[in-house]
Amino acid sequence: MDPHTVIIILTLNLLSSGGLFYLIARKMPPHGGLGAFAAGASTFGAAYALRLAVGMQGPSLLAALADCAMILGTLLFITGVRQFVGRTAAPIAPAVLIGVLLMYGVLHAVVIMAWGTVGRHVLLNAVLGALYLLLAYEAAQGLRSEPQALQLPLRLLSTLMGALGLMTLGRATSIGIQGADAIFQGLAAQIYYAYASLTAVLLGPNLLWMVFLRLNRQLAELASRDALTRTLNRNGLDEALQRHFGARTQRRIAWLQVDIDHFKHINDDHGHQAGDAVLRAVAGVLTQMVRADDFVARTGGEEFLVACVDASSETAGQLAERLRAGVAALRIAVPGQAAPLHCTISVGVSQPFSALGQWESAARAADAALYAAKAAGRNRVVLQSAT
Ligand code: GH3
Ligand code: MG
Ligand code: MG
Repeated sequence: MDPHTVIIILTLNLLSSGGLFYLIARKMPPHGGLGAFAAGASTFGAAYALRLAVGMQGPSLLAALADCAMILGTLLFITGVRQFVGRTAAPIAPAVLIGVLLMYGVLHAVVIMAWGTVGRHVLLNAVLGALYLLLAYEAAQGLRSEPQALQLPLRLLSTLMGALGLMTLGRATSIGIQGADAIFQGLAAQIYYAYASLTAVLLGPNLLWMVFLRLNRQLAELASRDALTRTLNRNGLDEALQRHFGARTQRRIAWLQVDIDHFKHINDDHGHQAGDAVLRAVAGVLTQMVRADDFVARTGGEEFLVACVDASSETAGQLAERLRAGVAALRIAVPGQAAPLHCTISVGVSQPFSALGQWESAARAADAALYAAKAAGRNRVVLQSAT
């Protein structure tokens, strides 16, 4: 395929990716990187379109504009990746952009006067190569903070751009040494164009893949967690149990059925918002005090089920007692209330169970123990009697 056709296809590819990103970005919260990806892909597409319009002619204002658009497009992609992996929330400052582009424009004019077309290509490739490496670096930084599912596309992005960065720097050097002939002719130029085209074609789908995985995770999170307390909802509890008993090592679970004492009074005396604040604070204590393998679900208005993994009824009882003391020590500041609120919980603890099919009967046993704790005066832990 001749380079002209390749550039037309790349232009259309980048412009359509940019449009697609723009459409998705409109439905998403800002600062996720999508707006910058949309702008980056469109700007890069526009740069290629300008190159097509300019053709092979010598230096011109349009050629300078095309080069600036490539730099700008890459800067936008870098910002998008930084936003996506949470390294910045801010969009790139317009003053910085204008400053960089002005500086590049001046450099561009100087090297063309001193060195002609060769200078223009050396400068462009040297700057783009460095920016591609920066993009690869930013994607690699994201590997540290992003979950397992995002590792592969981030690694692919980092590798693709890292290799492109090195090849682009190599190209700057060979054009500098061999002159204008190295720009379009020779094996190195062909390999470069083939690889750059491949990267441009893969970039859009790879970024979309990252966005899809992120969205998928957020949806799964929404579907499995309670919006008020961020603990598992019924759906999340089912999944956590399936996962637990689906694992190779099946460790037993003891249930802690937790219920806030006289919660109705908190709502009645201080208002529903204060009640919500108390629910969040109690859920915070439960989730922070349990071990990493344990899990906490909200099973009713002010009721929580805590899975105490790999524990006897006695150790589960000790955890329950620590949770009870932790909640009793809480002082919950509520806006509009003079004094902080406090509350207590009652806890019923089940015997451990070791098969998925037993979880509901164990939960009923924990509930019966909870009922006994309420009857005995509340703010206490009762263990299911051994059968
Ligand atoms: P006990 O010590 O016997 O458990 O008494 P209680 O008042 O805690 O129990 P009861 O079941 O009578 O009251 C539970 C209250 O929880 C009633 C309901 O209005 C409130 N509630 C349920 N869900 C929410 C919620 O999401 N937010 C708030 N603020 N209150 C809720
Ligand atoms: Mg209740
Ligand atoms: Mg209650």
